[in-house]
Amino acid sequence: MESIYYVLTWACHRRCKHCYDTRFRPYVRDALEDVLVESDTHFERVIANLPSTMIYQDPKNLTPEGKPEERIGRIILAGGEVLIDPVRERIFYPALDALNAKYGKGGVNISIQTTGDLVTPKILDEMLERNVWMIAIAGMDDFHVGMEGDKRLPLMEKLTDMFDTAGMQPVPEASTGRDYLTEKGPFYFFFGAQPDQWIGELWPRGRAWENSLTKADMNTNFCARHSGGRNFLNHGMAGSEVAIEPDGSVFPCCLKTKVPIGNVAEEPLIDILESLKGHPVFEALNEGAPDRMGLSQGWSEEKFHQASHTELPNGTPFANLCIGCDKFHEEVMEPVIRDLTKKRRMARASQPI
Ligand code: SF4
Ligand code: SF4
Repeated sequence: MESIYYVLTWACHRRCKHCYDTRFRPYVRDALEDVLVESDTHFERVIANLPSTMIYQDPKNLTPEGKPEERIGRIILAGGEVLIDPVRERIFYPALDALNAKYGKGGVNISIQTTGDLVTPKILDEMLERNVWMIAIAGMDDFHVGMEGDKRLPLMEKLTDMFDTAGMQPVPEASTGRDYLTEKGPFYFFFGAQPDQWIGELWPRGRAWENSLTKADMNTNFCARHSGGRNFLNHGMAGSEVAIEPDGSVFPCCLKTKVPIGNVAEEPLIDILESLKGHPVFEALNEGAPDRMGLSQGWSEEKFHQASHTELPNGTPFANLCIGCDKFHEEVMEPVIRDLTKKRRMARASQPI
């Protein structure tokens, strides 16, 4: 696949008001142990069930023979915050080691997302020793407390010094003509929920929803954007991406459908995706056209659009295709997905050992 976004932990040292999932927050004592156990009882099986290769083909970039280039896909490890104690030593580093053992050096581009404020030279060395290809510093926006406006500049300067000293490079600008996806890195990159980025309107999810912060409307098709459902089925090809939660639940998008498409702690990711190919609901999501997802189930585009209208918690009228997707999943998809899961289980059981 081109990209797998794997949320390793719900634990975070922050509780940002715009966060896309309410489960990302600080946990203490028994509650912290519960989220740690959820991660560390699943990550080995999740990684074992990821595709055997992360090589994908990119038809937009051709070899001299005119064939699609073969490229190395990315696995993005994220939280929450993977660098907090005790997530870092107990889950994050072992997960990096498991990915290295599965794919070998250069078999996958391992990217991590962190808020950056916990990175030290020692932790940076420990990540680079484990073949981290990219460190994406998320949270460079006005929603992260202490990172508003110019307040984030000292952290950015400190990290830039640390990364440069460690021999990392910033992700090159497109104007340089370099294609960093084909380079070995290691790279670093700063980003945040800025209005001009693909998450600028904020997803109608989590605390962004609870705090009525999302600015999306019916013209904001998150499904057709980066991190949306588009191309999720096309494993082996450019553009394919899925999102995985700590317990192995897998989704066609990072916004997450109301029902997961399967569980990667229980069965191989490719088996799940193959079983959904040709199904009209999932093919519509694969096209980035959620308003067509219900056509085979008696949901016209008009009905889907009507279902996409609701109110924000503060009473403001709100409409977005992801809301229609939520309602469709709640009304229709649970038994459909359960049936597909059962069929896969039976197919596996009937295979010779
Ligand atoms: S936005 Fe990031 S840093 Fe803030 S609570 Fe969510 S996961 Fe944590
Ligand atoms: S419409 Fe559904 S599948 Fe598409 S991005 Fe929104 S929640 Fe995900």
